[in-house]
Amino acid sequence: MKNAFQQVFGTPPAGVWAAPGRVNLIGEHTDYNDGFALPIALPHTTVVAAGRRSDGRIRLHSAQRDGTVTELELAGLAPGTVSGWAAYPAGVLWALREQGHAVGGADVHVDSTVPVGAGLSSSAALECAVALAVDELYGLGLGAAELAGIAQRAENVFAGVPCGSMDQMASLCCTADAALWLDARTLARRQVPFPLEDQGLRLLVIDTRVQHDLADGAYSARRVACERAAELLGVRALRDVPAEGMTTALECLPDELRPLVRHVVTENARVTEAVSRLDGGDAAALGPILTAGHASLRDDYRVSCPETDLAVSAAVEAGALGARMTGGGFGGSVIALVRDTEAKSVGEAVKGAFGAAGHRTPAVTAVWPSGGAGRIA
Ligand code: ADP
Ligand code: MG
Repeated sequence: MKNAFQQVFGTPPAGVWAAPGRVNLIGEHTDYNDGFALPIALPHTTVVAAGRRSDGRIRLHSAQRDGTVTELELAGLAPGTVSGWAAYPAGVLWALREQGHAVGGADVHVDSTVPVGAGLSSSAALECAVALAVDELYGLGLGAAELAGIAQRAENVFAGVPCGSMDQMASLCCTADAALWLDARTLARRQVPFPLEDQGLRLLVIDTRVQHDLADGAYSARRVACERAAELLGVRALRDVPAEGMTTALECLPDELRPLVRHVVTENARVTEAVSRLDGGDAAALGPILTAGHASLRDDYRVSCPETDLAVSAAVEAGALGARMTGGGFGGSVIALVRDTEAKSVGEAVKGAFGAAGHRTPAVTAVWPSGGAGRIA
């Protein structure tokens, strides 16, 4: 990384920072409803080498993009002024300055092993690596939750993507061998032991390699519908609808909002149940919760698609303990919890099912709960 930075910018970087992608075990589409989630960090990371500049400019370069360097004037940054990938790192500097932090220019070189656009949150990994780098370059001393808020604001306002807080919190706060229980309202969090290897388990990430065009519009539409349902129910957010009172609450709502509320309420309950099973030392018992979560995303929230549904059903039929789509939906990745001994056959079965259905071969990778973002050189 240091050499690559020097080749692009002509000077050595001041340091190198890494931030991981994530998969969410359970708690999908809950963060923007002030609810709970349970992500793990992936071994895949986005790495940023960076150095200060004293002329108020930022220069951005990514190994995943063509060779050009994007050069921007810090003072001129405003939402809508930067398009393409540069909006994510530039947005982080903009968000820091907007909140009154004394941040000057920077040279930034990016390289990543997080597949881009696969639902594994390469966008948050990029933002968080840049946020950490700039925090340290300019001695801001911000904590992980503050940096996550800055990164989320960069994505929401500067890049124009209305994501919740989970991806950035996961990238910055996860630790190895644990899942991160997260309360999106209070940002309270706890590391829940998730010792896959010790229990003879593996987590497969199945990248379906499809992302349907519906994804962006449908995500915003679901958000707006959830906000409307909360308003009709007289609660601050759907997180405040108790599981016991759900049936009565649903009766007050128009038909089209009912399944959405049911998903959010039952999904929050699934996070709580998943944490209690992990606390009980039985990671395999997570399996049925994953599959139930997928059914809810497919039938109630309606954000799955034929490819993710097929990956889940083929994995479960081949002996996975449980499987579900992860991320916003309409493609992207599926996770499957499997016994060590069945990892290979489940992967092959999913690929075979995709071949038979005429879909592109998915990428299947075994992952383990990895550490969060930090300085690496
Ligand atoms: P996901 O976060 O699921 O991977 P998104 O659509 O949210 O998918 O974010 C992908 C976008 O993030 C890319 O289109 C690109 O603009 C930006 N991005 C992520 N990683 C990189 C990278 N290594 N280099 C350049 N841009 C990146
Ligand atoms: Mg993203």
